[in-house]
Amino acid sequence: MNPALPESGPPRRILLIEESDACRQRLRTYLQFENVALIEGSGGLDLIEACRVHQPDLILLDATLPGSRGYDLIQILKQDPETSSIPVILLSATPSTLDKARGLDLGAVDFLTKPCDPIELRARVRAALRTKDLQDLLERRAHIDGLTGLGNRLALDERLAAEWATSQRLGTPLGVLIADLDHFKRINDRFGHAKGDLALRLAAKALRATVRVGDFVGRYGGEEFVVIAPDCDLAGAFAVAERYRAEVRALRLPSHGSVITLTTSIGVAATPDPSIKGPADLLFKADRALYLAKAAGRDVVKAWGVDDAARPELVPFKPGSPDLEPTHEPGPSIVNP
Ligand code: GH3
Ligand code: MG
Ligand code: MG
Repeated sequence: MNPALPESGPPRRILLIEESDACRQRLRTYLQFENVALIEGSGGLDLIEACRVHQPDLILLDATLPGSRGYDLIQILKQDPETSSIPVILLSATPSTLDKARGLDLGAVDFLTKPCDPIELRARVRAALRTKDLQDLLERRAHIDGLTGLGNRLALDERLAAEWATSQRLGTPLGVLIADLDHFKRINDRFGHAKGDLALRLAAKALRATVRVGDFVGRYGGEEFVVIAPDCDLAGAFAVAERYRAEVRALRLPSHGSVITLTTSIGVAATPDPSIKGPADLLFKADRALYLAKAAGRDVVKAWGVDDAARPELVPFKPGSPDLEPTHEPGPSIVNP
C-alpha cells in the first residue's frame, strides 16, 4: 500500500483543465496535502504549449469541455510524441458507459465521475503517478547499456537524429567519434571475460569523463563507443579523440600481480562537410575513418577528410601537433606494476 506520495523530493506536477471554478476549487482542496504542484487552466488553454512549459507528470482533464473538446484534446495529446506519455485522467459529471469507453480507448488511464470522492481521487492520482514512474523507468532502461551504463544503440540513434536536426537548424557544427579498443579479443582470451568486462567499464567511464557534459556517450557495439558532440567541428572532435586515446593508454587494470594496459583506435567525422548527407552518413564516415585508423596500425586517430571536397575520401587529418604514430605495440599488454 502507498497511502501518500513521497513527501520528500520535488512535488509532482499536475495540470488541471476544468471549466468550472467551483470544481477546480474542490479538486485543489482535495489534493492540498499531497506532494503535488497544481497548475490550473480552462478549456481555452493551449494544452500542448502548457505541457511544453510545465512538463506535467499527470493531466486531469474535464471530458465535458464545451463542444466535446475534452475528447479532442486527449486525442491531440496522444498523437504528439512530446506529450503522448503523460497520463491523463478524464473527469465527467454524467459519463455513460460509452463515454468512458471512448475516453479510455483514446488513451486516458482513468475516468472519474464528478463530483469526485476525495479519497478515491487521491488514490487514483497516486496510482496513475506510480504507473508513470514505472513507464519512465522502463523507458530509461530501454536506452541504457547494462554493462557500462552508457547510452545504448537505440539512445544513440535517437540522439543523433535530434542533434543532427538541431545543428542543421542552428547552423552549428556536429562532431562524431567512434572509438574501438585495439585487439580487445586478446583480453578475453588471456585474462577472461570478467576482466574484459571490467576493461569495458573503465574505458566507458574514462570516455564519459573526457567529453563535455552535454555530449552523448554510447556503446555502439561490443568494444566500440560513440560520442556525439554538438557544436564541435572536426578539429574539436579530433582533439577530444586524441585526449581519449591518451586516457585509454593511461588506464591500468590490475591482474594477478600484473597490470594490463590498453589502446584504442578512433575515427572522427564532423559537419560542416558537404560530403556528409545525413546523420547515418555522419556515423558511417566516422566509421570509415576508424577503419583507416585500424589499417594505419591502431592506437591512432583518423578523421574523415574535407581537404579534397571534389574527391571525398578518407585522408589523414593534419592537426599540426599531435604525434599520430603509435609509440608501442597497440592492443592489450602487461606492464610491470
Ligand atoms: P581490433 O583491434 O581489430 O578491433 O580487434 P578486436 O579484437 O578488438 O576486435 P574483434 O572485433 O575481433 O573482437 C572484439 C571482441 O570484443 C570480441 C569479444 O570477445 C569482445 N567483446 C565484445 N563485447 C564484449 C563484452 O560485452 N564483454 C567482453 N568481455 N568482451 C566483449
Ligand atoms: Mg576492437
Ligand atoms: Mg570492434
